[in-house]
Amino acid sequence: MELSRRIGSLQDSATFVVSDKARALKAKGIDVVSFSAGEPDFDTPDVIKEAGIKAIKEGFTKYTTSSGIIELRKVIADKLKKDNQLDYDPSEIVVSCGAKHSIFNVIQSVCNEGDEVLIPSPCWVSYTEMVKAAAAKPVIVRALENEGFHLNYDILKKHINSKTKLIILNSPNNPTGVVYTQKDLEIVARLALEKEFFILSDEIYEKMIYGDAKHISIVSLDKRLKDISIVVNGVSKAYSMTGWRIGYAAGPKPVMDAISRLQTHTTSNPVSISQKAAIAAITLAADDCRKMVQEFQKRRDYMIAKLCAIENVKCVKPEGAFYAFPDVSGLFNKKFNGKPIGNSNKLAELLIDEAHIALVPGSAFLADNFIRFAYATSMENIIKGMERFERFCAETK
Ligand code: PMP
Ligand code: GLU
Repeated sequence: MELSRRIGSLQDSATFVVSDKARALKAKGIDVVSFSAGEPDFDTPDVIKEAGIKAIKEGFTKYTTSSGIIELRKVIADKLKKDNQLDYDPSEIVVSCGAKHSIFNVIQSVCNEGDEVLIPSPCWVSYTEMVKAAAAKPVIVRALENEGFHLNYDILKKHINSKTKLIILNSPNNPTGVVYTQKDLEIVARLALEKEFFILSDEIYEKMIYGDAKHISIVSLDKRLKDISIVVNGVSKAYSMTGWRIGYAAGPKPVMDAISRLQTHTTSNPVSISQKAAIAAITLAADDCRKMVQEFQKRRDYMIAKLCAIENVKCVKPEGAFYAFPDVSGLFNKKFNGKPIGNSNKLAELLIDEAHIALVPGSAFLADNFIRFAYATSMENIIKGMERFERFCAETK
């Protein structure tokens, strides 16, 4: 019997495919250095774990309000005010099972069949597939490497028409590391207000920011934006809590009500124990987060210096998130051990099979000239992995 054509049209998540392959090789005893998934290698801070343990011991292990316990939504509202200068009532916030789930819920709640969704690319692997899962159409808006992947008004405007329903912004960006400036955000704000479409601002890497770059939430630019914008964030990256699965969305009441309704019929509620842990993360773990970010910055500096020194590899310096996204197209007309490289998929395949380093090919982010290194792994692994990458590049002919 035929299965759903809509779900059948979705690609596998390349980040998961590569991580799973690296894990499988490691299980066979092969020493693979994995730069694949964007998952902090740090342990979840103790103060957060303790809040989770306390929740279990106190029997906080039942269904909760579908949109998340009020205590957590109040803490999120305070965070949005303090960090982002945004005014949200807890009734305008819905907690879900990870930011990925929040984004899925927003897209499901906003889009109708045939609606167009603008996605600046290079872009994270899941946006296009989530849009397709809602029977809407992803419209890719290319950001240019020679403009540091910042937004370009003329290019963006060209893609807008009467079917445009939503734009998905991600700053700091996965995979490029670009942090949108006020100017970038003003381009989007102006067009969204003028042409009337929603903005989904994925701010999951907000805390991973380096040097002089500053995170600005687009909604803080103009009061009118609150009616057409949804801010998504979560605790996975900032507090090393990827497995706890807590993310949230803040936005106009009708959108939040739709998400809540959808959630009552799907996951019921985010995990009760994780909600208590998320309160501890947001209120008590700022120092832990800061220490992790300092460590990411050291790793970034080391990795970028190494990448920039390799012939045929070019790399824009990332200002945020924890990815390096070098242009490796200079290797495509070469061969390794007689095997042609050709494109980012083949390069990633050769790198894992021959050099034992796992990377996600740029094609997964709709940018075939690139390859993604996640530096959310130990310095020891980074040193070892970069040596392997340098050796691989030196041996290409
Ligand atoms: N947005 C982006 C850009 C991401 O890279 C990720 C990766 N996990 C997410 C959202 C989802 O995060 P979470 O683990 O909270 O679902
Ligand atoms: N977001 C991370 C990444 O891009 C984790 C995996 C995923 O959610 O896709 O690697």
